[in-house]
Amino acid sequence: MSGATQTRDLRTGRSIWVDSHGLGVPVKTLTGAISVDVAIVGAGISGAFMARELSRDHSVAVLDRRPPLTGSTLASTALLQWEIDLPLTALADKIGMANARRAYLRSRAAVDALKRIVDEEGIRCGLEDKDTLYLAGNDYGRRALEAEAEARAGIGLGSTFLGPAELRERFGIDRTGAILSTGSASADPAQLAAGLLRRAQADGAVVWSPVEVIQAASDPDGVTLLTDTGHAVRARHVVFCCGYEFPDGVPTPGAKVISTWALASKERTACPAWLRDTLVWEASDPYLYFRMAGDGRLIVGGEDEDAPGAHEDPARLKRKCESIRDKLLRLLPDLEFEVDYSWAGAFGESSTGLPSIGPVPDMAHAWAVMGFGGNGITYSVIASQVVSAAIRGRSDPDADLYQA
Ligand SMILES: Cc1cc2nc3c(=O)[nH]c(=O)nc-3n(C[C@H](O)[C@H](O)[C@H](O)COP(=O)(O)OP(=O)(O)OC[C@H]3O[C@@H](n4cnc5c(N)ncnc54)[C@H](O)[C@@H]3O)c2cc1C
Repeated sequence: MSGATQTRDLRTGRSIWVDSHGLGVPVKTLTGAISVDVAIVGAGISGAFMARELSRDHSVAVLDRRPPLTGSTLASTALLQWEIDLPLTALADKIGMANARRAYLRSRAAVDALKRIVDEEGIRCGLEDKDTLYLAGNDYGRRALEAEAEARAGIGLGSTFLGPAELRERFGIDRTGAILSTGSASADPAQLAAGLLRRAQADGAVVWSPVEVIQAASDPDGVTLLTDTGHAVRARHVVFCCGYEFPDGVPTPGAKVISTWALASKERTACPAWLRDTLVWEASDPYLYFRMAGDGRLIVGGEDEDAPGAHEDPARLKRKCESIRDKLLRLLPDLEFEVDYSWAGAFGESSTGLPSIGPVPDMAHAWAVMGFGGNGITYSVIASQVVSAAIRGRSDPDADLYQA
């Protein structure tokens, strides 16, 4: 076996971000009971935004049964979009136009907030501003996208419809239409989460790992968490940021865990210039999406499947990656795409594409955050805003959108 092949084999089933620099997050071993203002269960991107926000004026303990950043955050392709999985017009059919508009505007504001935090905290995570190109597909065709672009523009979102001729001329893509939007971004999700956790640590937060929370009991003054270390964690508030490992007793109506696949090309892959500034996704089921990273790798994903455990099957990984690559080359036939990394992960979907952020029923002082759909990272920003407002005794004007 040649050295090159060995390298490639090692990278099968391995996320591109495993090899990122700067992922060190110091952790402590729990050797006795502790008491804090806020306990956050989960050291992924949701726990990281939450910890960074709350550690500014609270004592915070982040608990994870694994090393930090090794849940779905490490698998993320990190398209940081404000466009929700369901178009504004389709979301309006489900939750009413006024609520759908609020959801879109809130996501737009969350991407801006994310960029501001990264800038203010000086987090090095390869954050880049990006446009998005949403291609007509088998779910929404030309007419639906025209109406969608108009509905978005009507509330001040930077979306424009492109017809087939303009799409071909500017992007070399043959489809019946697309929506070009401004204001999204991309980043290295592991570096982003690590930077946020270290920022929280600078404000006094402690990351405890490995610590599995096995039971939670609330009383009028707070919550007691029982852990597999035998030591209890006492907190005035607890926030479950457990990704797609749903905590018992938290309702998730209409939500399901599915599997999804992704791959990345070699560095410095030759690509059309527009691709450096543009995230691409399509209105199809299953859908294809892709974007470039700063080192010139092309990151491509999709082929979602309903089975929650399918992402663990190595034979499926191989098949899915071949089909993702084929689809990409059908869309951009001149591309030279050599696969370097391929991986899969669990992913959560909700019927509206909106996350679930809210109090845990029948458990005072407890919150749960589940960032569903293709916008999980954008939603982790919103979750940190909604939950921190509640813990500080304030209300968030959009909290109702995310509560089951
Ligand atoms: C392949 C793929 C591509 C994606 N692409 C995008 C994208 O382009 N854009 C986007 O915005 N989102 C994307 N997502 C979704 C996004 O990555 C997720 O929404 C996000 O990573 C969820 O972060 P989290 O912190 O909530 O969960 P996780 O990162 O999974 O962290 C949860 C943590 O909780 C810990 N935990 C769970 N239960 C317990 C317990 N009882 N005790 C202690 N610890 C516990 C786990 O060990 C884990 O570390 C993608 C996801 C996948 C899989």
